[in-house]
Amino acid sequence: MNNKYKILLVEDEAHISTFITALLEANGYRVICAESCAEASAMYTSHVPDLVILDLGLPDADGTVFLRSIRQQDLTPVIVLSARSDEREKVAALDLGANDYVTKPFGSDELLARIRSALRGYRHSAPEGHLPGGKFTVGEMTIDYDARRLHIGGSEIKLTQTEYNILALLSEHCGKVMTYAAIIKEIWHETPDDGSIKKLQVNMANIRKKLGERPGDNRYIVNELGVGYRMKSEE
Ligand code: CA
Repeated sequence: MNNKYKILLVEDEAHISTFITALLEANGYRVICAESCAEASAMYTSHVPDLVILDLGLPDADGTVFLRSIRQQDLTPVIVLSARSDEREKVAALDLGANDYVTKPFGSDELLARIRSALRGYRHSAPEGHLPGGKFTVGEMTIDYDARRLHIGGSEIKLTQTEYNILALLSEHCGKVMTYAAIIKEIWHETPDDGSIKKLQVNMANIRKKLGERPGDNRYIVNELGVGYRMKSEE
């Protein structure tokens, strides 16, 4: 493999940093390491990485401080490494603009898949959020943004306006976990509460059924329990 993407790894635990560096280099990525928020900021400016892997528990400040500063500059994909199983932590990082998260301990394949997905999603998206050609395709699914239509394997699938809007939104952010709050704000312009989360879940269940997905099936949309949804960016 010869992809030569540059990844900034921000992690203060030496054994995890060594492990991830070896894994990424074996898969053709170039790796730059930082052990604190301050070091990460300096490295980010001088090396301009294609993707950032960010531990949240850093010695000088919380990793979200660095995440916030990245998002004030650009949309470089950020995958958060979290030792914390607390859902609120992950949701907070996603709402600050992280693309995805991986909970420690994680498997090599899982981390690599998340990286590929985040890099693909980033390459896909144009600045205004619309994709080149006005179409989005993953597997057998095609969304035609101009016609507001969905096709699976050549047949048109009828969606309600709301269902279409949700699906289009997820596709425009493919590879990124969108939290319940982010989706609800975008679709209904509401502050999320139990009622609106329920409304979203009902719509999602209908969308997944129309896409031919059974519960636990993750062909197009991954359900991140208690957090949100992620549209896949690859088969
Ligand atoms: Ca740490």
